[in-house]
Amino acid sequence: MSGAVIIVGLGPGDAAKVTPEVTAALAEATDVVGYIPYVARVAPREGLTLHPSDNRVELDRATHALEMAAAGARVVVVSSGDPGVFAMASAVFEALEARPDLAHVPITVLPGITAMLAAAAAAGAPLGHDFCAINLSDNLKPFDLVERRLRLAAQADFAMGFYNPRSKSRPHQFARVLQILREECEPGRLVIFARAVSTPEQAIRVVRLIDATEDMADMRTVVLIGNSATRRVGDYVYTPRSA
Ligand code: SAH
Repeated sequence: MSGAVIIVGLGPGDAAKVTPEVTAALAEATDVVGYIPYVARVAPREGLTLHPSDNRVELDRATHALEMAAAGARVVVVSSGDPGVFAMASAVFEALEARPDLAHVPITVLPGITAMLAAAAAAGAPLGHDFCAINLSDNLKPFDLVERRLRLAAQADFAMGFYNPRSKSRPHQFARVLQILREECEPGRLVIFARAVSTPEQAIRVVRLIDATEDMADMRTVVLIGNSATRRVGDYVYTPRSA
């Protein structure tokens, strides 16, 4: 079999949420590349070499995958959720841009269930109308840009999903995010803190914006905020299709 890179999303955690085409790609792989906890979700087997690497080395990891594929390996690059959402797919294309000598390597991207959609399903249908996704990490972009997009999205009355809301290295930015939301949205706006969705530790907490505090989020949480029409019905949260 000739070399290729297949970039896959493993979904939010539950094995039942891994798509059949991703399972098939993993079954044919000679090598799996990715961040340590994601590679740990792939069952070891004979003929498969696992290459776990640390966070923040995405470009090195992507280049390594392309080089192995150029040498004939069938390399699966794993991300959690969807590989195109704040994950490895863009990193592979960025690496490719820097290495024209690897342009002949075939690349396939296989989608997965991203955290915000799994979280929305667990809560009801809070993303039932127009929505957007914002990565709150300023690892790769200035926090000014995060603030600007957040404020404009709130003014446009989008429902939103926030990835990477809070980490040990950025403990206070999420408080600033909540402050901006309070400036732009009414106090009763519904906020969903969805932690470890589709794992045994799943916890879904729905609060009003005025009651939301920064400690409700960590790196295993995706935060959803409804638009101005989002409401509760029974135990569920939904956004009507008309707003
Ligand atoms: N590619 C991934 C996102 C990677 S960024 C995807 O499509 O889901 C990592 C962030 O995703 C985390 O900080 C968290 O905000 C979110 N996330 C990933 N898996 C999650 C899960 N099972 N439950 C809640 N949030 C999750």
